[in-house]
Amino acid sequence: MRRLLVLGAGTAGTMVTNKLRRRLAPTDWDITVVEQRDRHFYQPGFLFIPFGAAPGKAVRPTRSTLRPGITLRRGQIDRVLPADNQVLLTNGERLRYDQLVIATGVEPRPDQTPGMRDPRRWRKNVFDFYTYEGAVALAGALRAFAGGRLVVHVTDLPIKCPVAPLEFAFLADAHFRQRGMRDRVELVYATPLAGAFTKPVAARHLGAMLDERKIALEPDFLVERVDDHRLISYDDREIPFDLLVTVPLNMGAEYVARSGLGDELNLVPVDRHTLLSRTWPNIFAIGDANDLPTSKAGSVAHFSVEVFADNFLQHVRGEPMTGRFDGHANCFVESGDGRGLLIDFNYDTEPLPGRYPVPGLGPFRLLRESPVNHWGKLAFRWMYWNLLLPGRPIPLPARMSMAGKHPEE
Ligand SMILES: Cc1cc2nc3c(=O)[nH]c(=O)nc-3n(C[C@H](O)[C@H](O)[C@H](O)COP(=O)(O)OP(=O)(O)OC[C@H]3O[C@@H](n4cnc5c(N)ncnc54)[C@H](O)[C@@H]3O)c2cc1C
Repeated sequence: MRRLLVLGAGTAGTMVTNKLRRRLAPTDWDITVVEQRDRHFYQPGFLFIPFGAAPGKAVRPTRSTLRPGITLRRGQIDRVLPADNQVLLTNGERLRYDQLVIATGVEPRPDQTPGMRDPRRWRKNVFDFYTYEGAVALAGALRAFAGGRLVVHVTDLPIKCPVAPLEFAFLADAHFRQRGMRDRVELVYATPLAGAFTKPVAARHLGAMLDERKIALEPDFLVERVDDHRLISYDDREIPFDLLVTVPLNMGAEYVARSGLGDELNLVPVDRHTLLSRTWPNIFAIGDANDLPTSKAGSVAHFSVEVFADNFLQHVRGEPMTGRFDGHANCFVESGDGRGLLIDFNYDTEPLPGRYPVPGLGPFRLLRESPVNHWGKLAFRWMYWNLLLPGRPIPLPARMSMAGKHPEE
């Protein structure tokens, strides 16, 4: 019996175990997944919790998301011993593997910015929405906010879902308008980037949307510390706030560093087409945990797992892996008032205007706001729980297509 060990039962780990359980005979392969939590979070749902969405819709018991025939080991990973093909848990247990898949994602680390996690401020006037607890706490703070300066802030990149802080700013604008108090709220978007987004065409479109909503952009802002009611940058600029909604530094799990498997952000260096470790021939890293030069997103986890699953079967038969992941990502961007836009891109092609997935027809519009895009974003939650996580086939090609895109408009 050969052993496949998957570390982390989040988005990528769950998709891959469910997909491979269908394809690897139970008589030949044991599949075990190690997870520290007993709850699986649908993280895109965190965006809506501060604005009143029911938190329960973003959570399910971890066991219920895994197919029969997959062993779930509750526990925390202490380190990987790659030379021994073993994983050590913090309770002292050792798990052996023939093939290892690292899928422990990234987590927000407010402790990495001086003053951010200070108990006098944290979850009092400094909040995050990248954790379930943070999103729930922020809902209370937004309800109580009577007006003032609300700063939406990105500490550094890469972060998971790099459009989520922009979406938060758009939704905050709509939220305060609906409450009839927009004139009492000054909205600021502070980012380490030179513009609203990483890629030029999308940065132009999203920057114009900030302007239309009178959300002030503070570009090139690299925070050094958080003080009482102030963000202070390395070049001594200051941004005052009454309420700070920050995306802290995102880092891979600590055990990755302890195992000598990570870079300075604890991300695992992998081949960008096969997700195989650049050092170990039987270790892969999927989802946010790797260092791929594309967005950290559930969509990337999904498209890359499609390629990975076929490749993995070739790999364990001793054959060369023929699938090549192209960095395909797509993200719905909620823009408030029941509208949204969609971006679709890969390693080589930046987000462009057009229609998706059917060229000319859509129904989704790329880089343009529409109600259909908003409904797409909401419907995605159903797709996540019922199609993507169980590893069922969906009729969207893993590779990005140029059909329907307009390079110049
Ligand atoms: C607010 C927000 C909005 C988002 N919106 C979108 C969106 O609209 N579209 C989109 O495509 N993506 C979106 N994302 C990103 C998406 O949720 C992530 O990219 C995706 O969940 C990554 O999957 P993953 O499996 O790599 O990591 P995760 O889903 O984070 O899973 C990692 C798992 O590893 C476990 N783990 C970590 N360390 C250990 C350890 N030491 N021991 C045991 N277990 C461990 C964790 O408990 C967790 O269950 C959003 C994310 C956030 C936070």
